[in-house]
Amino acid sequence: GSESARERGIAYYKPTRDSYSADRLTLVSELREALNNDDLALFMQPKQSLKTDRIVGVEVLIRWPGRATPIRPDEIIQLAEQTGLIKPLTRWVLEQSLALRSRLLEHGWPLNISINISPNNLREPDFPIFVQRLMNSHYSHRGSIIFEVTETSMMQDPENSLKTLNSLNTTGIPVSIDDFGSGYSSLSYIKQLPASEVKIDRSLVTDLATEAEDRVIVQTTIDMCQSLGYHVVAEGVEDQATADLLRDMGCDMIQGYLLTPPLPFDELLEWLANSDQQAQRKLG
Ligand code: C2E
Ligand code: MG
Ligand code: MG
Ligand code: MG
Repeated sequence: GSESARERGIAYYKPTRDSYSADRLTLVSELREALNNDDLALFMQPKQSLKTDRIVGVEVLIRWPGRATPIRPDEIIQLAEQTGLIKPLTRWVLEQSLALRSRLLEHGWPLNISINISPNNLREPDFPIFVQRLMNSHYSHRGSIIFEVTETSMMQDPENSLKTLNSLNTTGIPVSIDDFGSGYSSLSYIKQLPASEVKIDRSLVTDLATEAEDRVIVQTTIDMCQSLGYHVVAEGVEDQATADLLRDMGCDMIQGYLLTPPLPFDELLEWLANSDQQAQRKLG
């Protein structure tokens, strides 16, 4: 997968390095084509409760398989944002995510689906209406979809972001503040958000086991967010020592390579079946 490609040091295409080059124009038209031909894919990464050890949801993450030169997801998104493709791309992601949720349900997994939303989407006047229509056209129970928005992205247009998030929230879609602790948002802004969850940025989690300062920051963040009524997820948990620390700190949920990297649908099903057996054994 792309993770192992990254570890092997394969050069990734950098869309920003040469904004107007022929390469980039080709890439943009390839992305448009990939979107039209359903050549993009969605992987899913499980989110586990530290209170019950159960898998409570999955985060949907975009991939572009079948390319000679792999492109990182954040660069796909950046390219889409710069070229107006983010609107159709996010709509594709939303439709596919709802379909994946249905397929998971069919296999007996009523999991929450977390979907990343770009700041540009929050500025589309018809975004809440589109989401509402989509939700109405799919069998759904409330709370089964969560929108992840990074704190930094909201600060580009705090007023409108807040308006859009409020209107999404009244249609029953909870908001998760992604990459918390990596940006510059103010606490007075954060407290106004109709969020139910905060995801602590991987940069604060990575060295938790070895850095005392990071433990202070993460513990304080957990306490503050929980006091404000948010559930707290730690992202980028890669080892058991970090998970144990987070459990001791009262963190609600974890995500990370310790559980598994993001997986395609069939592999996720397999993984869920195995992890479920383990949970049953633990309980039994
Ligand atoms: P994010 O939403 O913060 O997603 C978490 C990222 O951390 C994912 O990277 C995931 O693969 C990676 N990750 C998870 N666990 C670990 C771990 O234990 N260690 C390490 N080193 N990494 C871990 P990914 O899939 O490359 O996505 C990067 C970013 O691209 C996402 O960050 C999100 O901001 C954006 N993105 C991905 N898919 C979409 C999408 O469909 N729409 C939008 N708007 N953004 C997306
Ligand atoms: Mg996310
Ligand atoms: Mg994140
Ligand atoms: Mg991120």
